[in-house]
Amino acid sequence: MAPFQSQFEAQSAAVRVRFGAGVRHRIEEEIDRLGCIRALVLSTPPQADSAMDMAASLNGKAAGVFTKAAMHTPVDVTAEAVAHATSVDADCLVALGGGSTTGLGKAVAYRTDLPQIVIPTTYAGSEATAILGQTEDGVKTTVTDPKIQPEVILYDPELVVTLPVAMTVTSALNAMAHAAEALYAVNRNPVSTMLAIEGLSAFKRALPKVIDNPQDIEARGETLYGAWLCGTVLGQVGMALHHKLCHTLGGSFDLPHAETHAVVLPHAIAYNARAVADLLQPICDIFGGTNAGQSLHTFANTVGAPMALKDLGLEEGDLDRTADLAVSKPYPNPRPVERDAIRTLLQVAWAGDPPVL
Ligand code: NAD
Repeated sequence: MAPFQSQFEAQSAAVRVRFGAGVRHRIEEEIDRLGCIRALVLSTPPQADSAMDMAASLNGKAAGVFTKAAMHTPVDVTAEAVAHATSVDADCLVALGGGSTTGLGKAVAYRTDLPQIVIPTTYAGSEATAILGQTEDGVKTTVTDPKIQPEVILYDPELVVTLPVAMTVTSALNAMAHAAEALYAVNRNPVSTMLAIEGLSAFKRALPKVIDNPQDIEARGETLYGAWLCGTVLGQVGMALHHKLCHTLGGSFDLPHAETHAVVLPHAIAYNARAVADLLQPICDIFGGTNAGQSLHTFANTVGAPMALKDLGLEEGDLDRTADLAVSKPYPNPRPVERDAIRTLLQVAWAGDPPVL
């Protein structure tokens, strides 16, 4: 159980969510509901065929398709998408894909204020936040604005069955990381804590079933439900050490997003469990064990997650610089972010050893 929180502020976004197998076939209704008639459908290159099929199913309400979404939302791709949206006179956006496609939709909406319908196909959770990370000249910056928040989300578990098992696992741990850090966020509230606990529980219950049978629509649905909850808490509260480490590793060393989250999570949570074991107790309740970091390490191992930063391409010689960057301008964190302890954490995560308790 999480301890009772006696003082808090809470704010949540007005987002319309439809959930269920086959719900992607209801996009046209949602376009109508927004009062729109010309949707621009967005995707990554590998999901272009699905985007084309979706556009073809919209009974003339697709103004065009733009299939160049890329990881970390490069601003030059966004500029091209904005020009395309203008040239086809689009009045809304339909983003079909993972965090990269959602990011492109948000980046276009930020610049044009076009309403967005998002159909997520991974567990990243970006669709539930007003946060946009974008990259220019290799530098990633983050902006938060109400225009970025998608208006409508359609969660269709049938679209996630094609996500390969390895990506399923890392994407799930990426989502769970939002919920884990929400438990000790400085601006948490009882509802964000409740969402975080339920999101983590959904992944604990359903992820092993998805790994056993990736076509299990019921289990895919439950993991997607977990992704919605974890994304929603990410939109409500601030993140801490874990996200700072992942942003450093992704931004400065180009490590892959979801995999990096998967490796770092048990170590960052073990680091903070030294300061706020009581707030992290729900993780022990859900995953078993007596230390939240160890509990997550055991779970990650069980579901076959990557366990070592060295396997993601980080050189041992980069660990000092990673530690220096991670302790500069730290995010608010429940345990002081000390350089030596962070350097040790990184060494252990690099080697793939169990977290320091
Ligand atoms: P992604 O969107 O880059 O997808 C990875 C690859 O998987 C792509 O090639 C994609 O086409 C493919 N793919 C996606 N769904 C698939 C499916 N169902 N079947 C087969 N292939 C599929 O990866 P991601 O992890 O979802 O998103 C990562 C990005 O999202 C990062 O840029 C990250 O910064 C961002 N993000 C942002 C927020 C936020 O709130 N701003 C939150 C989480 C993630």
